[in-house]
Amino acid sequence: MSKKTLIPILGDQLSHGISSLSDQDPDKSILLMMEVDAETTYVKHHKAKIVYIFSAMRHHAAALRERGWIVDYVSLDDPENTGSFTGEVARALERHPVESIRITEAGEWRVMSMIENWQDQFNVPVTICPDDRFIATHQEFEEWAEGKKQLRMEFFYREMRRKTGLLLDDDGKPEGGKWNYDAENRKPAQSDLMMPQPIRFQPDEITQDVLNLVAEKFTDHPGSLDHFHFAVTRKEALRQRRKFLDHALAQFGDYQDAMLTGEPFLWHSILSPYLNSGLLDPLDLCREVADLYADGKVPLNAAEGFIRQIIGWREYVRGIYWREGPDYAQRNFLEARRPLPGFYYTGDTDMLCLSEAIGQTLDFAYAHHIQRLMITGNFALIAGIDPHAVHKWYLEVYADAYEWVELPNTLGMSQFGDGGIIASKPYASSGNYINKMSDHCASCRYDVKKRVGENACPYNALYWDFLARNEVKLKDNNRLAMPYRTWNKMDADARKQLRGSAKKFLEQL
Ligand code: FAD
Ligand code: SF4
Repeated sequence: MSKKTLIPILGDQLSHGISSLSDQDPDKSILLMMEVDAETTYVKHHKAKIVYIFSAMRHHAAALRERGWIVDYVSLDDPENTGSFTGEVARALERHPVESIRITEAGEWRVMSMIENWQDQFNVPVTICPDDRFIATHQEFEEWAEGKKQLRMEFFYREMRRKTGLLLDDDGKPEGGKWNYDAENRKPAQSDLMMPQPIRFQPDEITQDVLNLVAEKFTDHPGSLDHFHFAVTRKEALRQRRKFLDHALAQFGDYQDAMLTGEPFLWHSILSPYLNSGLLDPLDLCREVADLYADGKVPLNAAEGFIRQIIGWREYVRGIYWREGPDYAQRNFLEARRPLPGFYYTGDTDMLCLSEAIGQTLDFAYAHHIQRLMITGNFALIAGIDPHAVHKWYLEVYADAYEWVELPNTLGMSQFGDGGIIASKPYASSGNYINKMSDHCASCRYDVKKRVGENACPYNALYWDFLARNEVKLKDNNRLAMPYRTWNKMDADARKQLRGSAKKFLEQL
């Protein structure tokens, strides 16, 4: 029997154009897809996240077979399953005559270090192909970052605009004269019966099998399966993309930061799980957004705001993840040590903003950016929660969470654990910001206008306590000069009351 190339396809490599398959001959290749315990349990992923990934993998395997590839698929309940990628590659080498292994680089340090051992471990040549689904290569990010004192996303984003040509005029200048229209993207929203909702895809037989498997095997994992609605094929993901582009994108810019009680999705795209697992291509999506702007179908603040999230933030956090190295996960600049409150796993708190954000997270494995940053993230930051516990929670509960994208967003942007590589100041705020951007406070048992006392909004005292607690580390940050001036101008009694109120709250947390 002629020897073949073994091509493992990981759960976030569900793109037909994945680099490991390019120029390969289906007759000389065996594709290996593996559902393994180690990946489902190294943190306790939300049940719906596991269903999404396994079902999308099973559908992708079928689509690959239709295109003529031989796919060796190891399911989680296979009695011979060893439970790890390395164990499954070892078994596949026994099943098939293999002369080499070829794989697209993994999306996290942990899995990369496994793959890097395979050549020595199995005595078979291993080729690791770059993941070309991203716009910036590792080298391009390094070259951009080299020698810079500060790595601000905005300047990297402009490079990506130049590289892709997105939203540039014929002279290479940004459309409309400005690179960034974020200032126009901060409107609070009103409840709107016409608000678009993501398509709820009905589980087919494959998804139903996975739903049963996960319901039985992962009983102690967070989250509900009752609302499972994700697309699990490229075709379905394309339908959700179409729905977003035609019905939500035009409003995406205006209401990007808004929050409404009982409305988990607003005008967001709900495309991150599909972009991150490979069902959709990010650049292709951005090109269509730019075309819709050029055709006058969506305003510039919407098109630019959306494209910035993808070719700016998404690419930038990936660059930071790989540049900073595996020890990035251990950083804790503010030395925050408090454990994560139990209500992050139940949503059971009187703070309405938190119960809304956490409740929908447990129901749908989804919350939008401002909920993640300014509700759950902000609370953890000002309450002094250990950033590693916060990182673990975000990695568990969101369907789009893979370490390359989740860790820099959580530990860096949201918890300031890297001391300011990503964020120029901590994203800490009192209840005032939440009141401005949402309708939650009006129905909350706490009073957002009160700073101390039984019914005072906890975010208020915690915010000032956070600044006071971290004064030595943060007082020289120019962007915090104003709040520190205000704090230092407050009379001693007011300061004492605020700190006392925060202490009392934290003690009962
Ligand atoms: P939309 O609001 O419609 O935005 C469009 C797309 O832009 C998203 O699909 C996503 O691909 C991209 N995007 C937007 N913001 C970011 C960002 N900051 N970083 C990377 N991509 C971005 N995103 C993840 O994909 N996975 C994560 O694990 C993740 N963890 C996060 C943790 C924290 C603490 C914070 C503050 C943000 C996190 N984000 C993460 C970014 C962002 O919240 C999600 O990408 C977004 O909410 C996904 O929903 P959507 O597809 O409806 O996005
Ligand atoms: Fe959240 Fe405070 Fe508003 Fe309640 S009052 S919803 S706790 S910000």
